[in-house]
Amino acid sequence: MSSKSDNLQAFYDHLMKDENRATYIQRLSDYCAYQSLSGDSAYFPICADMVNKCAEDLKTILGIAPEDVKVHTNPDGDDLPPILTAHMGNDPSKTTLLVYGHLDVQPAPDPENWVHQDDPFKLTKVPATRGTFETNKYYARGSTDDKGPVLGWINAIEAYQALNMALPVNVKFCIECMEESGGFGLEKIFENEAEFFSGVDAVCISDNYWLGLTKPCVTYGLRGISYYNVTIECAAGDLHSGVYGGTVREAMIDLINIFSQLTDGKGGIKIDGVNDDVLVMTDDELALYGPIDFDPEEYRKEIGTKELLYPDKVGTLTHRWRYPSLSIHGFVGASDGNEDQTVIPRQVKGKFSIRLVPNQDPADIDAKVEAYVKKLHTQSGSKNPLTFVATTSAPAWVSDNTDANYKAGINAQKRVYGIEPDLTREGGSIPVTLTLQNATNSSVMLLPIGQSDDGAHSQNEKMSERNYINGAKVLGTYLNELGKAQKTLKSKKTGKK
Ligand SMILES: [Zn+2]
Repeated sequence: MSSKSDNLQAFYDHLMKDENRATYIQRLSDYCAYQSLSGDSAYFPICADMVNKCAEDLKTILGIAPEDVKVHTNPDGDDLPPILTAHMGNDPSKTTLLVYGHLDVQPAPDPENWVHQDDPFKLTKVPATRGTFETNKYYARGSTDDKGPVLGWINAIEAYQALNMALPVNVKFCIECMEESGGFGLEKIFENEAEFFSGVDAVCISDNYWLGLTKPCVTYGLRGISYYNVTIECAAGDLHSGVYGGTVREAMIDLINIFSQLTDGKGGIKIDGVNDDVLVMTDDELALYGPIDFDPEEYRKEIGTKELLYPDKVGTLTHRWRYPSLSIHGFVGASDGNEDQTVIPRQVKGKFSIRLVPNQDPADIDAKVEAYVKKLHTQSGSKNPLTFVATTSAPAWVSDNTDANYKAGINAQKRVYGIEPDLTREGGSIPVTLTLQNATNSSVMLLPIGQSDDGAHSQNEKMSERNYINGAKVLGTYLNELGKAQKTLKSKKTGKK
C-alpha cells in the first residue's frame, strides 16, 4: 500500500475494527494480570516474567529480530527486575525515536474497595451507560500506569505493519520494571549501552495524564524535589511533663519554632535565597496558559478545600508547575496518639520538602535550606543538638516545547482529537525524563494518552477504551509526524555537537 505523505485514515480504521479492539483489550488484560509490584522483592520474579513477556511480544507481534531484543540483567543487582531494550529499523536517513515505558506497578491493597471487589489485577470492564466505545472503562492496576501506554505503542506499530505502511522512523524501546521503586539499574544501562542510547534523535514517554477529562495535552516540564529531615534531641529518654515540664528546653517546641518560619503560611517560602534563581515569567510563557482548559473552582471542589492560595487559573497552574513550593509532611517521634498523653518526647524529627523548578540547583538549595534552619536554631538560643539531613533530590526538567519533536506530538493529538492540545507541565517529578535527556542529548517529550481521573497509584485505576484506542492512534500519528520532521531533527542533533 504505497502512499503519498500519509494514509492514516486506513490506520485509524484498522485500530477501530471490532476484532482488533478485542485483541488490544485482551493484551491489556494479559499484561495487567502480572502482579509486577516493584516495591516488594517477593514480586521481582513476576516483574522478570512481565519483562520477558513484553520481549517475546516485541518479537512475535512486531517481528523484531531476536538479536535486536535484549533483556539485560539489572546492573544494580541481578535479583532486581531486568531491563528491556530493542530496536526496529536502522535507516540512517530516518529519525531515531526512543520510546520509554515501564511495566511495574504500585501495590493494590484493599481489593474490596475496587469495582471488582476481588482482584485488582483482573481487567474488569465497566460498560458505558450509553453503551458507546467513548465511555467503556477497563479497571485494573497498571491499566493506565503504564501498561496501557506501552501496549499503545505495540498496537500502533503492529497496525502499521498490518497495512504494509513503512515505519517512518527507526524505533528504539527502553522498558523497565522498577520505575515505581527508584528506577534501579536504569542509569547504569544508559552507561553500559551508551551506543544504543547515543544514536537517538528524539525521546517520547507516555507515562502521565491529561490535565482533565476532555482535552489532550503534551507535557514539557516537571518540577524536581529536595527532601529534608530535621531532628532535635532534648533528653536521654522521654520525660513526664508533670515532673520535668517547665525545667527542660523541649525538642518539639524548638522544632515547631523552626518549622513555623519555613513559609509565610500563604504559599511563600521564607528560606533566604531559595527564590533567587526562579526564572521570571516571560510574555511568551504566560501566553501558553491562556488556552489551557482548567477550572480552578472545579479543582478546588475536587480537593474539598475552602479556598485556593491563588484563586485564578494562571495563579493555580503556575504555582503547581513553575514556582517552587514547600510542604511539611510530618513529625516522627511526636506523640501522636488520641489520648491526652503528657510525654515530652526526647527526640523529634520533622520532614519537609521543596518542589524545585527549572534553574534551581538542588545542591545550592540544600545548602541554603541547611544554613537557614541552623541559623534559626542558633538564633533561638537552644543548645539542643540539631541534625539536618538532605535525603533525596531530583532537579526540575523543562523542554523546548516548540521543537520538531513537540510539533509532531502536538499535531498528533490535534489530528486524532480535533482540538489543539494543552501544553502542560506537572508539579511532580519523573526523574527518568532528565536522565534520558542527558543520556541521549535529545528532545524529550511527554505524550500522555490517559485522562486525569485514571487513578494511577490509587484505587480503581482504569483506562477508558476511548483513550486506549485513540492513544494508539495518537502514538502512530506521532510516528508519522516525526518522520515528516526528520530533516529538522537530524540537523538539530548534529548541530548540537
Ligand atoms: Zn508510570
